Amino acid sequence: MKALVIGSGGREHALAWAAARSANVEIVYVAPGNAGTQREPKVQNVGLGADDVPALVDFARQYEIDLTIVGPEVPLMMGMVDAFDEAGLRCFGPSRRAAELEGSKAFCKDFLIRHGIPTAEHRVFTDPDAARDYIRERGAPIVVKVDGLAAGKGVTVAMNLDEALRAVEAALVDKAFGAAGERIVVEEYLEGEEASFMVLVDGEQALPLASSQDHKARDDGEKGPNTGGMGAYSPASVVTASCHERIMDEVIRPTITGLAKEGRRYVGFLYAGLMIAPGGSLKVLEFNVRLGDPEAQTVLMRLKSDLIQLCDAALAGRLSTLAADWDPRAGLAVVMASGGYPDGYSKGHILTGLPVIEQANCKVFHAGTAFDEYDNIINVGGRVLTVCALGETVALAQAKAYELVRNIHWDGVYYRNDIGYRAVARERG
Ligand code: ATP
Repeated sequence: MKALVIGSGGREHALAWAAARSANVEIVYVAPGNAGTQREPKVQNVGLGADDVPALVDFARQYEIDLTIVGPEVPLMMGMVDAFDEAGLRCFGPSRRAAELEGSKAFCKDFLIRHGIPTAEHRVFTDPDAARDYIRERGAPIVVKVDGLAAGKGVTVAMNLDEALRAVEAALVDKAFGAAGERIVVEEYLEGEEASFMVLVDGEQALPLASSQDHKARDDGEKGPNTGGMGAYSPASVVTASCHERIMDEVIRPTITGLAKEGRRYVGFLYAGLMIAPGGSLKVLEFNVRLGDPEAQTVLMRLKSDLIQLCDAALAGRLSTLAADWDPRAGLAVVMASGGYPDGYSKGHILTGLPVIEQANCKVFHAGTAFDEYDNIINVGGRVLTVCALGETVALAQAKAYELVRNIHWDGVYYRNDIGYRAVARERG
């Protein structure tokens, strides 16, 4: 069969790599892909933008694609799956209506409350004065989030009142986020440890993927601005077996049932970002309607089952008959970024030290990379590579990943040095 992966990040490289391993797949197209997908066996880049819905429908029809997997959120919210469905093409991901779970934080919070799913207390505002009054009444720490998509930049975890009031000003007065910031959610600050819990959904049933933990802050020790994610590891030690069951019972199942009841039947990957308090209580921070990046890279490296078969089963409503098989080793992923990310950075620098021959148990997934006119690989984006390794322990996976990372270089390269630190500390007891 022929598969098509939409997107160009590290997550999409991992999806294409995992799809290409499927025995039934003869070729995986990636639109638009990156330098890493271009070099992957059985994978071919297609020069179409990830949000060019009509062109992608035409391509899938013309090339007789059997299964399309949508990586990022923007095309899902544009209705890519709806367009493929209308054309009679099989596309794995939620419909535009179901994707609203990520597209509007206000919708998501109201949905969680309606269905009794645990989440932080919140209020929605369009009026800056009302928001300021509420914030002064509640006090800091407090969290201010713009309603729409803002690539991870629309959330302010304010440790003092000034910061919170500035965030209100930026969104509702200065309109710094445009339409995405016309409404804001002001939310109770939650203490605890975060975990990422991703599942495949077939409309009724969910098949859990291995748990993971992201590192969103740019700098070591959770300092610096929030990013799309600077590294991850799997499994997340904070998600114990009993916690896993509770996430399925208290969060995932009621979400799928609730969406179906509201006429937003959900098929696709679903990501719950959770805060797990020291006492074990859990609350939903957010839903994403796709896999997390870089969580996908480390989780898919541990997946022993056939990804295409799992997506096929989900599209056919047959997930209840399946279980996924996992490599028992830990996975760890370090993101290598362009210096300056998530703000401005310089592009066009040649990458050196990329492994020539891939070693077992390691994998370098590409994101913002391209070939220059001399066939050198250069950086063209903020997040450039995700270097992944497997190990008997998180500490061993960490050592292996950083060994590779330290060999790779370009002008301005930047990465965190402490990915996995919580799990390594737990392992040391
Ligand atoms: P993403 O980049 O994952 O799409 P996002 O912009 O959708 O993120 P959230 O995931 O809601 O935003 O929040 C980003 C980060 O802010 C969280 O991962 C968490 O670290 C922090 N955060 C969000 N809400 C809270 C809260 N109520 N209490 C404490 N920290 C929070």
